[in-house]
Amino acid sequence: MKKIDGIVLYSGGLDSLLSAKILMDQGLSIVGLHCILPFMPEDVDVTQLKSTKLAEQINLQLKYHFCGDDYIQMLKNPPHGYGKNINPCIDCHIYFIRKAAELMNELGASFVATGEVVGQRPMSQLKHTLLHIIKETGLQGRLLRPLSAKILKPTIAEENGTVNRELLFGISGRGRSQQIGLANKFGITDYENPAGGCLFTDPNVSIRLKKLFSHSSDVSSADIYLASIGRHFMLPNFNRIIVGRFEAENDKLSDYRKHGSLFFSPEFAGPSLLAFGDLTDDDKEFCASLIAHYGKWSEHENKINVYKNEKLAEIVNAKKIEKTEIDEKIRNFMIIKEV
Ligand code: SF4
Repeated sequence: MKKIDGIVLYSGGLDSLLSAKILMDQGLSIVGLHCILPFMPEDVDVTQLKSTKLAEQINLQLKYHFCGDDYIQMLKNPPHGYGKNINPCIDCHIYFIRKAAELMNELGASFVATGEVVGQRPMSQLKHTLLHIIKETGLQGRLLRPLSAKILKPTIAEENGTVNRELLFGISGRGRSQQIGLANKFGITDYENPAGGCLFTDPNVSIRLKKLFSHSSDVSSADIYLASIGRHFMLPNFNRIIVGRFEAENDKLSDYRKHGSLFFSPEFAGPSLLAFGDLTDDDKEFCASLIAHYGKWSEHENKINVYKNEKLAEIVNAKKIEKTEIDEKIRNFMIIKEV
């Protein structure tokens, strides 16, 4: 296998594409590390991701890291706090750099490069922790920012001639014109928006995850993925319910049924429901009411199949309840809240 010179922290965004391309055009052998966040489905086909296709524009070879339990632990309590929603951007970035350093060591590469541009974001908080991580991960003198390198202290790779510093850039500030100019020059026509698609910046997902973290010590990647799907309810005993809003969500809930305790699937036109926790008979009755509330059923078509561990466990009937009554129950009962 060809020796790998450096790892680029890759997101699909313009700055990471440019950084990789700048280094590859020097004849360096570069691997992009793409960290996959836990809100991706567990069977995600990485070859079909938009970010993967974007890397093909510059023939960048990618390796993937699936952010698992260690990422979730950080997300639950990020040392540098959250952004506007549940986005732990500083600690997320540190996590990514740590993973890139691990890959650098694993592949025998000599540096990690990022698409960071000096002065683009307020980094004062990051600086101190980054210095610690750099030391801890063996990245001293090995963290390269190709877009801003000329205004930064040279890295070891620049000093020993592995990387030609003259072919790097000295961009700073929030403006994007120089990066757009480089994209045109390199023929990069498509890229992800900054933070585009990060569900941790979504206010609704944020509310649900914060609620989940406050009531469960065991939040999984599946829980994070499901946070963006369906209507969410939390019962007084903290059992959780997710109700599909349309067919695609019903299918996703069905795919993830093994992560819940009971999966409700009506025989009439109505939503599927995935429940978590040890459901009481009252809880099950409420589940049937919810399905009835959002579904179309009649006295003759009212059966709801309830599955446990993939097997049909029981059949319950849609409960005869007026929509106004259940609407009011949801609206007025403080114990039942959509989260
Ligand atoms: S926007 Fe999302 S992916 Fe990007 S650093 Fe913040 S938390 Fe991480």
